Amino acid sequence: MADDLTTEATGLLQDLIRNACVNDGTVTSGEEVRNADLIAGYLGYGGFDVETFEPQPKRRSVLARIEGSDPTAPTLMLMGHTDVVPVNVDGWSRDPFAAELDDGMIWGRGAVDMLNLTSTMAVAFRHLVQSGFKPKGTLLYLAVADEEALGTWGAKYLVENELDHVHADYVVTESGGYQVPTQAGTRLPIMVEEKGTFWSNITVHGTPSHASQAYRTDNALVTAAEVVRRIAEYRPDARIGDTWRRYVEGLGLPVEMADPDRLDELIADLPLGLSRIAHSCTHTTMAPTVAHGGTKTNIIPDRVDLQVDVRTMPGQSGTAARELLIEAIGDDLMHKVEITSNDDPATASPIDTPLWDSLTRVTGRLCEGSALVPTIMTGGTDNRFFRRAGAVGYGFGLFSRRIRFEDYAKMFHGHDERVDEESLDLSTQLWLALAEDLLG
Ligand SMILES: [Zn+2]
Repeated sequence: MADDLTTEATGLLQDLIRNACVNDGTVTSGEEVRNADLIAGYLGYGGFDVETFEPQPKRRSVLARIEGSDPTAPTLMLMGHTDVVPVNVDGWSRDPFAAELDDGMIWGRGAVDMLNLTSTMAVAFRHLVQSGFKPKGTLLYLAVADEEALGTWGAKYLVENELDHVHADYVVTESGGYQVPTQAGTRLPIMVEEKGTFWSNITVHGTPSHASQAYRTDNALVTAAEVVRRIAEYRPDARIGDTWRRYVEGLGLPVEMADPDRLDELIADLPLGLSRIAHSCTHTTMAPTVAHGGTKTNIIPDRVDLQVDVRTMPGQSGTAARELLIEAIGDDLMHKVEITSNDDPATASPIDTPLWDSLTRVTGRLCEGSALVPTIMTGGTDNRFFRRAGAVGYGFGLFSRRIRFEDYAKMFHGHDERVDEESLDLSTQLWLALAEDLLG
């Protein structure tokens, strides 16, 4: 059985990759209708009913449901996105949209983010339908458009406008589940928390004058350079939450990693990748990313617009984030700047839940001697919309040992994205076992 399902998951993943639903953030990109129709056709085999939603032309999402027999039993949603981010072909050693299968490895954009899970969830769901699965709780499968550009035409739209269709008590989507070997056994990170975004625009003001007389001018570009320097050098205090503490414990990392007084010193000496992750999981981060300003070489500029990608910690309000930004810029420059921000706070789910217990049982069988370790997503996923609507939302899947964490992290939005068939098999088995265990 497993082999047949893996062949199906591989074929479906290849077709999803080849459809190249590339979301560049513009409203006309993505065209997820192609992947949505592929999935609707796959699930609708034999006359099974699926629903579709299309709030914008070609931005289609697909929902399928196995209704539970007990209205008081919980609803589990398996959710995958169908869009992918753009590629830079020059960095790839294979055609990113050919979905080549070589030595058990499928290559292509979306292979780990996250068409692999979108595919295996669909394969598990169809198998459950065909085998006459009659659970007490309801099982939903949702393939959404537009995850890669804030979920506007996908998860966000559906939660805001179609909640009676997509309501779920438990949601599983990306990302996690790579195997981390430790002395105590294999550890499987599971995302239970996502940082917030507090994207800010900083307008820096100056006074225009002739640039041939540069002495003692009020140059907005020079002020902006100082603002950028101060933000880049600002070091907010470490904030150690429960999730990070459990992560450090679970992976057997040095205890100092969970000590707010010693963490910063330790982080500075870690290998680059780990250093960035450890810092982001324990601090508010501020990255100046865009600057626009100046009009002409011989005019002292009177306005520069800066964009800063601020990422907030769980429990941190927009007001608190703004105060940090003001502290970074400094009182002496604040009279020259205006800050406007868009607050999308962090979200988190507890771990003392039936979904956690169920995943623990199921993964214990699939990866012997393994244990789940809660972790923090420094970026955002569609889980945030469902958590805010009351669901427990985790990011998870399963990967074989061929996909090491270092490679996994690099492949996200990177070059040479690829996944092996054994990972597809493990994930398919995971969804089947989870549905049985949680929904009964
Ligand atoms: Zn993704």
